[in-house]
Amino acid sequence: MRHLIRACFSGATGYSYAKKAEDVAREHGIDRVARLASNENPRPPSPAAIEAATAALRTINRYPDERASALVEALRRYHGDYRFVTGAGMDGVIETVIRTVVEPGETVVVSTPTFSFYGLAAAAHGARVVSVPRREKDFSVDTAGFIEACRGAKLAFLCTPNNPTGNSVPPEAVEEILEGMEGLLFLDNAYVDFADLDYRPLMQRHENLILGRTMSKIFALAGLRVGYAFVPGWLEPFYHRAATPFALNSVSLAAAAGALTDPDRVLEARDHIREWRQRFLEEIPFKTYPSDANFVMIDVAPHTGDEATERLAAKGVLVRSCTGFPGLGNRFIRVSIGEDWENIRFLEAIKDL
Ligand SMILES: *Cc1c(COP(=O)(O)O)cnc(C)c1O
Repeated sequence: MRHLIRACFSGATGYSYAKKAEDVAREHGIDRVARLASNENPRPPSPAAIEAATAALRTINRYPDERASALVEALRRYHGDYRFVTGAGMDGVIETVIRTVVEPGETVVVSTPTFSFYGLAAAAHGARVVSVPRREKDFSVDTAGFIEACRGAKLAFLCTPNNPTGNSVPPEAVEEILEGMEGLLFLDNAYVDFADLDYRPLMQRHENLILGRTMSKIFALAGLRVGYAFVPGWLEPFYHRAATPFALNSVSLAAAAGALTDPDRVLEARDHIREWRQRFLEEIPFKTYPSDANFVMIDVAPHTGDEATERLAAKGVLVRSCTGFPGLGNRFIRVSIGEDWENIRFLEAIKDL
């Protein structure tokens, strides 16, 4: 019956997940594994999020609010007067945006190496994916080349700070791209809370910008799958038409709104990450790349990324091999910044590699 499967799923391998901490622990007889493979916040979410989620459990016999009004209100209080759409993770928002604007066969542009889901979701929708390579030296974006590739495309994705390389595209370069392209730019800001950058003012000057955000990283709600985006007003009603009904459940909605009422917790997490990020860059005995995010990419040559990942796992440290990122060689790993004990164990293990 395999012939029934669409070509885009029958050959390619799909999204690659980080190895489960539990499996590694079992294989190597380690009690507690340092989980530095998925860029999560190592700490639990704000008590305000947990309380709100717990209260919401009492009404799960009802469908959630289809417009996510409480979350949108909380977002306005947190960010100011913008238009927002929500989804099941930023991944859900990405899928809905593709569905809203791209016809099968049309072009979607991505800047590689980067987060793989843009290309996977676009291909699954029947789009033609065009990859624009970043500069090899520092993974910066060739603005003119990117604009050129966007000619005639309705949608392009740009990740800043970029996963897995960690570098950012300066807001001025983003603005140049916005002015040079005719279609929509989806700017993925999953890690912007760890950087000293603010792309929000661009929303006021450009009708073709979407800013994607997630509650999975600094807000520590990865397990509840909450994403959202700043969108231009003209796009909002069409996004709602294209969206899967009730994609975001009521417990997640409540938790996200609760988390947004506790900005101090976010600042604490950010300070912890920045301190350790500096220490990682100073102490890791391999070539590292400067990072604005909660992770660092490392060139582990002469090892391969897969070898290094395997050897670190044997020492109870889970990191991400970057061989699955299209457009990147096979000698990189990405390590997330975790709790103190996890970071210390990682530094010892990598010095020993
Ligand atoms: C983690 C991540 C996301 C997706 O986050 P969700 O958990 O789906 O909200 C989006 N973009 C990048 C670059 C990421 O690393």
